[in-house]
Amino acid sequence: MKITAPPAYIAFILNRLVSEGYESYVVGGSVRDAVMNRPVKDWDLATSAKPVEVASIFSETVLTGEKFGTVTVVLPECSVEVTTFRSEGEYNDGRHPDEVEFISSLNEDLSRRDFTINAMAESIEGELFDPFDGIEDIKNGIIRCVGGPNTRFSEDALRMFRALRFSAELGFCIETETLQAIYANTNLVYKISSERIRTELEKVLMSKRPEVAGEMIKIGLLSRFITTTGKSPAGLEKLCNLPQEPMLRWCAFCAILLKQNFISTATELLQGMHLDGKTLKTCLRALVIAKFPKNSTGIKILLSKNDAAVVRCAAAVSDVFSDTGEISSLTNAEEIISSGECYSLGELGVTGRDLLEIGHPPGRMLGETLSKLLEHVIKNPQDNKRDTLLSLMKASVDD
Ligand code: ATP
Ligand code: MG
Repeated sequence: MKITAPPAYIAFILNRLVSEGYESYVVGGSVRDAVMNRPVKDWDLATSAKPVEVASIFSETVLTGEKFGTVTVVLPECSVEVTTFRSEGEYNDGRHPDEVEFISSLNEDLSRRDFTINAMAESIEGELFDPFDGIEDIKNGIIRCVGGPNTRFSEDALRMFRALRFSAELGFCIETETLQAIYANTNLVYKISSERIRTELEKVLMSKRPEVAGEMIKIGLLSRFITTTGKSPAGLEKLCNLPQEPMLRWCAFCAILLKQNFISTATELLQGMHLDGKTLKTCLRALVIAKFPKNSTGIKILLSKNDAAVVRCAAAVSDVFSDTGEISSLTNAEEIISSGECYSLGELGVTGRDLLEIGHPPGRMLGETLSKLLEHVIKNPQDNKRDTLLSLMKASVDD
């Protein structure tokens, strides 16, 4: 029975290549995800056609990574990467093969892939190629290197992060020899850029098993950024109660690490990992909010002084430290944010101009009056009307 059910545009590419006399397959993560009944995010296609041959078959192509065998086929529906069967030469930088050799054997192409579960292919007719028993490992929930793990990790140290990332995303265990090789090769991590490490770590934080980030820390894969003590920080599993939003999860991750002294500042970690400026700024502001208010007035006061994103992050932090496991602070904050109730000057029923028109003196006092009115409205939402606020103000002037 056919495992993958590629959309029509993928089938079109596969069929075109076959009709021109080349082999072509769905490979890698697409086959794995289809076997596991997970949605296939991106379709990995492999072919015996060389990049220039692929380019000559389709009307619009981009030679994206010609040297490494990747051509992007541009179709009206979307762009699809097609990769020529290849073997990899020497790895001298621990990340990129110095050269790749285009080959005609599918099996050889599958043998350069990282894990057995990622080393399967299926033809358009539904013929499955699984030379390393990936299906069996999927059944047993195992991440296992194709070939000797020490060699595979010394060729490309990123694979160590990928092993843990797949274990987090798929809920699989890492096979003993593969795991031992990860412990034995942590010294190779220096070869991997911080951005690539961040991408893998973020996928772990966003997964259903964010506590795998703790395993990365314990093993020492993140020692460039986070102190390695041979222990995992406690409580990382709570991150999975949060919505799958990177910023919330990064912020709560930092809070957990700070509390247990795994990092001394969030700036060092987030900057070291080259997170974008908005995430950095928002997380830093959220992390200084010591106690998240329980009542709506307190939350609105916080919202009057901070961006909603900052307040949501602070709520997320409060929720991962709560014993109940509920995300009540975040829920409360979100209810207020979407309620339309006034918590900032922009939503206040009067403007500075209104006040000036009724004779309020300009200058610093004007700002102070507006702030006072905002404070009043936060506590008394029903009063957020122009007339009510103006008469309130007049009354306070008359006093
Ligand atoms: P996902 O798309 O969910 O991240 P994936 O397995 O599809 O997972 P990709 O990075 O899209 O991962 O790579 C596609 C395929 O290329 C993998 O399934 C694997 O066969 C191979 N591959 C990717 N990165 C490596 C690597 N570092 N070493 C060896 N093979 C790799
Ligand atoms: Mg993929």
